[in-house]
Amino acid sequence: MAAALRIGVIGGSIAGCAAAVAGSRAGADVTVYERSGAELQDRGFGIVIPPPLHAELVGSGYLDAAMPTAPVGTRVWLTREPGGRSARELARQHSPVTPCNWGLLWRSLRASAGAVRYLRGQPVASVRLGDSGRAVVTSARGEKPYDLVVGADGHASATRQLLAPGLRPEPAPYVVWRGAIPLGAPAGHPRELELLRGAWVTLGFPGGHGIFYLIPGGPQDGDGSAGAGNRLLAYAIYSRPPEGADPGPYVRELAAAHFPAAWADIVARSGRRATACHPVADVQAPRVARPPLLLAGDAAGVTRPHTATGAVKALQDALCLERVLREGPDLTAALERYADERTAAGARLVELGRRMGRALVEEVPDWPAMGQDEVDVWFRGVLDGTWHYLYEGPGEAPEPAAATTSAGPEATVAR
Ligand SMILES: Cc1cc2nc3c(=O)[nH]c(=O)nc-3n(C[C@H](O)[C@H](O)[C@H](O)COP(=O)(O)OP(=O)(O)OC[C@H]3O[C@@H](n4cnc5c(N)ncnc54)[C@H](O)[C@@H]3O)c2cc1C
Repeated sequence: MAAALRIGVIGGSIAGCAAAVAGSRAGADVTVYERSGAELQDRGFGIVIPPPLHAELVGSGYLDAAMPTAPVGTRVWLTREPGGRSARELARQHSPVTPCNWGLLWRSLRASAGAVRYLRGQPVASVRLGDSGRAVVTSARGEKPYDLVVGADGHASATRQLLAPGLRPEPAPYVVWRGAIPLGAPAGHPRELELLRGAWVTLGFPGGHGIFYLIPGGPQDGDGSAGAGNRLLAYAIYSRPPEGADPGPYVRELAAAHFPAAWADIVARSGRRATACHPVADVQAPRVARPPLLLAGDAAGVTRPHTATGAVKALQDALCLERVLREGPDLTAALERYADERTAAGARLVELGRRMGRALVEEVPDWPAMGQDEVDVWFRGVLDGTWHYLYEGPGEAPEPAAATTSAGPEATVAR
């Protein structure tokens, strides 16, 4: 019997755990190296994924069906009433999404990758090409050869540099403030909370926009239960940072100046600990695999977060990896198929993220002048023919689905 393929995964976050599940389901012997010694599950931010992807991941054993989610089916566009402090609804769109809690998503993937070797607090110092086409990973545990090394080491990936030396992320001229707050904080705003129970909200303002939605709370949040009542209010607000001042607290000033009063108060109540300010940048590796190396998740490419696809892409990368490994014993051919499919998908999203960033932050429309038809037409122009799960109008055809995994988890890839 041929020996199992040996896979080393650098990074044990969303992309790394998903790739580990993919490899072990395809019969490989997988080791994950994670730099952080802390529990990654404590990152409590919101991650939105398409409902069909969620169903596929549950059906194929990547995610536990019991992982809490907070699905909604509608997107509501709001802005502040000109000259007033109340909100005005501009448009509603059919937009089914499955909001998740980042930490719960990671925990579920990590549990599904239970059988793999997961080395916490183990930074990889280097990767080099060794004998007979293998890659050699160096860490505090010494040197280990692998048939395939998956770089899942995030946006600042060192593995990406091996495939694309000198490639650097391109910064956008704005930042994002991201928060997740217990529902007790905005309890004084029952109308806004009621709206969020059935929809996710985009709030347009001069110079940017904010996204608001509910996500499941983790064991450390709210009542600590995994029940439908334990929710956090997650938001992401995009705008240029202030000149020469700390951008962190500026989000509250921004909200007070431009948001309807209730939404400004929600942001004001989130407190500094619940909010993080990130630069926005994007990058795409020109080819995401070259044997014996493969990139997954943010290591392969980062898109501006408007597309809500960083984790989605990492999960799709894993499904693709499992499928190509199962399709045949030739690893080189498998990685070529992965590279063809996933490079093109990543490049499409980077372009879409830039168009969205221009339209939603850099050159925003005159929000109060828009109504349902204007929002629909304007956003169709931004999409420019690219299918995207957040804007799936009734009757619109989804992106052609990649072939799904066919064989059972016992199929084995030999080296
Ligand atoms: C505001 C905002 C909103 C977003 N919303 C969404 C959304 O709604 N939907 C969505 O799909 N995505 C969203 N994303 C994107 C998503 O959060 C990321 O794309 C995703 O978390 C990336 O996962 P990753 O595993 O590729 O990278 P990371 O989570 O960055 O993980 C990389 C891991 O590699 C480890 N590592 C690095 N170097 C080494 C080394 N040398 N040795 C060992 N380990 C190493 C790190 O410790 C880390 O754990 C959003 C992002 C932002 C900023």
